[in-house]
Parts: sequence; C-alpha cells; structure tokens
Amino acid sequence: MLQPFRLHDPATVADASNLLADLGEEARAYAGGTELLLAMKQGLLHYRHLVNIKPLGLSGIRFDEETRRLRIGATTTHRAVEHSAVVAARAPMLASMERHLANVRVRAVGTVGGNLCFAEPHSDVATVLLLHEATATLGSARGRRVVGIAELLRDAYTTCLHPDELLLDIEVPELPPNAGAAYQKAAFLERPSVGVGVALLPAADGSTVAEARVAVGCLGPVPVRVGEAERALAGAPLRGRAFERALDAALDAVGRACEPVDDLYGSAGYKRQLGVALMRRAAVAARDHAAPARGGGISATD
Ligand SMILES: Cc1cc2nc3c(=O)[nH]c(=O)nc-3n(C[C@H](O)[C@H](O)[C@H](O)COP(=O)(O)OP(=O)(O)OC[C@H]3O[C@@H](n4cnc5c(N)ncnc54)[C@H](O)[C@@H]3O)c2cc1C
Repeated sequence: MLQPFRLHDPATVADASNLLADLGEEARAYAGGTELLLAMKQGLLHYRHLVNIKPLGLSGIRFDEETRRLRIGATTTHRAVEHSAVVAARAPMLASMERHLANVRVRAVGTVGGNLCFAEPHSDVATVLLLHEATATLGSARGRRVVGIAELLRDAYTTCLHPDELLLDIEVPELPPNAGAAYQKAAFLERPSVGVGVALLPAADGSTVAEARVAVGCLGPVPVRVGEAERALAGAPLRGRAFERALDAALDAVGRACEPVDDLYGSAGYKRQLGVALMRRAAVAARDHAAPARGGGISATD
C-alpha cells in the first residue's frame, strides 16, 4: 500500500533543486511516477516528499539544424517521442524503439528522463541513445553540466546525478544520412530481456564501414558499447564474405563482453545466445540499410 507523502510543486529547476537539497534522503523527484509510485506501492522505496518536476517546462522535442541534434526534454513522455514527426525523420530507430516500449499506459505517462534516471537494467532507451552518442544535460541550483549516457549510468539503479540535480534534457545527434542502424530486442515479460543495436557508418565511397557502433543492453548492470565488436567491423567491406567474417569476429566479442545473470528474464546462457543472435540480425539489417547512393538508410525494429 502507498504510504502517505507530501507532494511539492516547485516553479523552477532551482526551486526543485533547493527542495531536494533541503529534504535530502527523504525526497525524490517525481515525473510520470511509473517506476517510483510502483516501487513505493510495493514497499521497496519510501519517500516522505515527492518533488513534482512535470510543471518545470522540461518537456518538448526540437531539432537544431545547425548542430544536427534532437533535443528531447526530460519530462517528454515516451508516447510523445513515439508520435513525433521530427523524431521519425531524424532518429527513426529511436521512434521505432519507443513504439515497442512497455505498453501504451506506461508510454502515455512515463518519461524519457524517468527511464534514464531510474537506471533499470532491463531498459531499451539508453542502449539506443548510446548508438547515437547522445548526451544528457544535468542541472541544479548550482549550475549545469553535460555528460555522456555512459557516464550518466553508473550501475544498476545508480546514476551520476547528485541528490540536488535533475536531468533536464538529452541531445541526440542525427546519424549521417547514409548510415544504417537497427535495434533488436526480445521481451518475454513487459520489459526487455535483451536489446542489441548496431549502427554502421559507411566510408564516403560506400564500399566499407568507416565506423561501427555496437551497443548491448540488459545483459549487464548497464547498457554498454562493445569496443572490440566495433573494431572488428570497422574497415570491413559492406558486402560479401569479408563482411560476414568481420561480423563473426564481432559476434564473438559481443558474446564475451556481456555479463548476463540468471533471472526471471531467462538463464544467463540463454540470454548470451540471444544477445549474439540479435546482434547478427541487427548488424545485417544495419548493413542492408546503409545506403550511400540512396541516403537515409536507417532501419529499425519494425
Ligand atoms: C510495466 C512496465 C513496463 C516497462 N517496459 C519497458 C520497456 O520495454 N523498455 C524500457 O526501456 N522501459 C520500460 N519500462 C520503464 C519505463 O520506461 C519507465 O517506467 C518510465 O520511463 C519512467 O519514467 P517516469 O517519468 O514514470 O519516472 P518516475 O517513476 O517518475 O521516476 C523514476 C526515477 O527517476 C527519477 N527521475 C525522474 N525524472 C527525473 C529527472 N528529470 N531528473 C532526475 N531524476 C528523475 C525519480 O526520482 C525516480 O527515482 C517499463 C516500466 C513498466 C512499469
């Protein structure tokens, strides 16, 4: 049962930050509440004060033509991202991932910022953001700082946020128009058991992979980029047997890099195999959609 708590409605980020600093361990920022209220109802967490951050003007999506980056406010709901025309045009893999996240009730209320700040290991959002090399702007009454997604997520349920800090927004660089990218996940329960994404950025002549990005989620405490797999794919021809050989080496690296544990979502061995199988699918889809001649080759999960 939900224990009583006091809901605070600060008017500004500085006010919210000061409240969080003053109330200390007894308070928490509250956005959609889909994680927080659930955990409080189950008695896993208890806060006597919740600081409502929804009225702080932190929601919204826009694309900056100059920096070629999407800016997504922290309290933007998953549903808003899913239905945004600008996200569909600039980061279609992100839009597609959002379509398959949770269920419509969670998407309608849950926010992108809440997903990242809760740092639940069975999550899709951070894995896709790692492929985009997105950054997060954190703010408090003391100022602002920008961190990468890998720096934001320290461990399962642990971020680099200071107690008085809020996530304000994320910036998502657009992938180059000839890049191919795909995210694949398997979910037996509502949350994903495994999520793997690959982005292939072709060289100017389109014949080889100039840069490869590989991100694996749910197979460890936090989603990670797998550098060894990326190095195996970088420089490989985009077509033919040589791509397959590079992919085999990348798949081995992914199998070694993940640290799954046995849990409700599957045994460790099964999840490792699933991760490797999804990585193959994602890499082949990304390769097939890397389109130097046509442009705009982003593939996604559906
Ligand atoms: C049934 C179910 C299925 C789900 N399935 C998926 C799935 O398939 N894939 C997936 O990726 N996710 C999934 N999720 C997670 C979902 O994305 C999150 O529940 C949601 O995004 C959390 O956002 P919220 O606004 O409700 O956060 P809240 O519950 O309000 O907050 C969560 C935590 O983040 C903190 N917080 C929130 N916003 C900020 C901020 N701006 N700054 C600092 N701290 C902040 C809060 O203090 C709290 O600790 C699922 C969740 C549920 C309940």
